[in-house]
Amino acid sequence: MAQIIDGKAVSAKVKEQVRIEAEILKQKGIEIGLAVVIVGDNPASRVYVNNKKKACAEVGFNSYEYALPEETTEAELLELVEKLNNDGKVNGILVQLPLPKQINENAIINAIRPEKDVDAFHPENVGHIMIGDFSFLPCTPAGVMELIAETGVDVCGKNCVVIGRSNIVGKPMAMLLLHKNGTVTICHSRTKNLAEICSQADILVAAVGKAGFVTPDMVKEGAVVIDVGMNRNSEGKLCGDVDYAACFDKAGYITPVPGGVGPMTIAMLMRNTLTAAKIKNNILE
Ligand code: NAP
Repeated sequence: MAQIIDGKAVSAKVKEQVRIEAEILKQKGIEIGLAVVIVGDNPASRVYVNNKKKACAEVGFNSYEYALPEETTEAELLELVEKLNNDGKVNGILVQLPLPKQINENAIINAIRPEKDVDAFHPENVGHIMIGDFSFLPCTPAGVMELIAETGVDVCGKNCVVIGRSNIVGKPMAMLLLHKNGTVTICHSRTKNLAEICSQADILVAAVGKAGFVTPDMVKEGAVVIDVGMNRNSEGKLCGDVDYAACFDKAGYITPVPGGVGPMTIAMLMRNTLTAAKIKNNILE
């Protein structure tokens, strides 16, 4: 039977550390600010933005919300990003994805100053992650690493399988596991023998976007199973990529959805924003 990795509890610990450090900076006259930009009225994006603002309040950051209409042009959004790049009160800029189709997401990501890119999506930060010399970690994969650390399982030398190769989750996830000396395999939609590869994983990370994708035959006895997926099932209930109930007895450790990776992503965003403020004030240890 698996031990549940409690993402809510681990994220609360991370946020508490951030809150304490933010408080110390405040006493030195340094206030920390995160700008959150949302374009359009995607209900899921609205929930994420509200959660990020709530987390800012919890850790003592100022949050500045910019809610723009669905028909916003790329030029208008670029103008706002430039304004935020030059705003001394703003340490981190987060533009909630996805953006409406008239806006090129890459153009926006590339316009955010790397030192304010708390999502770590800018090519400069992606390059730093590749080399292993980074200030900002991509929030979701960084959150996953914290959850794995919580199990006490050492990544070094382990067979790690990541299902999914997106720029925001799969690829950086694989890179972070590699930096910890895991033997990493990345699977995707063209992978052959996917179930067999997964079934050899000591650490299995699912970032597919398909409810119930990971079934018990894909899980090695005692494996650490991390579910990044956030899907809605036929009843509209939030669920992950892993068939949680079916895999529970076989896994050694497993993350629930909700209450697993999701809260960690936001906690790591808070940590990145704190890091951005430290970099700006030359107090990074
Ligand atoms: P994405 O860009 O759609 O990528 C999905 C990946 O899964 C792709 O690499 C795709 O392969 C692969 N895939 C799809 N079908 C597959 C199949 N049948 N077999 C093997 N691989 C398959 O999604 P994403 O942005 O990485 O997000 C993945 C999931 O994580 C989503 O549910 C998303 O909502 C969730 N998410 C959660 C958080 C969080 O905070 N918890 C944060 C970000 C994302 P190809 O590249 O070959 O198409």
